[in-house]
Amino acid sequence: MTSADSSDGNNLHQGRSATFESEITFGSRRVKYALRVSARARHPRIEVTVRDGVRVILPARMAAAEAEPLLRARAAWVLRTLDRAERWARVMPVRRLAHGAEVPFLGTNLRLDVARGPTRVGRLGDSLMVTVPTPVDRSIRRALVGWYRREAEWELERRVRDLSSRHGLAVRSVVVRDQKTRWGSCSTSGRLSFNWRLMLAPPEIVDYLVCHELAHLWEPNHSPRFWARVGGLCPAWREREKWLRKHGAGLVL
Ligand SMILES: [Zn+2]
Repeated sequence: MTSADSSDGNNLHQGRSATFESEITFGSRRVKYALRVSARARHPRIEVTVRDGVRVILPARMAAAEAEPLLRARAAWVLRTLDRAERWARVMPVRRLAHGAEVPFLGTNLRLDVARGPTRVGRLGDSLMVTVPTPVDRSIRRALVGWYRREAEWELERRVRDLSSRHGLAVRSVVVRDQKTRWGSCSTSGRLSFNWRLMLAPPEIVDYLVCHELAHLWEPNHSPRFWARVGGLCPAWREREKWLRKHGAGLVL
């Protein structure tokens, strides 16, 4: 074993996994994809993501040639999802998390001050001091997500308490989650949940989402009556919705 292997320690225990670059033609359209033969996968699957494009994952027992029929069988879904991913990619920030990089936080940008040490994140003015044992993108990201979540808990709790008491609404609890596709939700028992990624948005967007979920305490649907309630709490809700539709996918670290 060479010293280069030691940093890859995990992969050594996963048996023989390998990734190949490949290409398929659907009509006149050529689509590149990554074919991964995985020793751990039990079933074949297709993934389409903004970051990685199209990926086919095959269990080791399947032959690489089986990837193409799988893709053909789901051609419409693959193309539709890929188009959507490409539209998203245009609003996604290209951000390498390293010393000196900037991250958005409630309408301002914080500059990362990265150092080596036990994992810790703290804000100092416009700087975000991040110490991690190994200062690489992935570990910085993990530390930052922890910080954003804690900030989100504090911020959202504060905004919810403030607005709900002003309007005589009973909120049981506020939780912060890591949701891929939703900004918030509201249960009939008065439990509100929000996505921590809201901290990447300007404050007026956060306020709108809080109003939106609070309005669900009156109307657990998206009826005209619901939107009238939202309008009462946040008159500019139409612009906020429009902003979210346009920029929401870009609210990622
Ligand atoms: Zn809603």
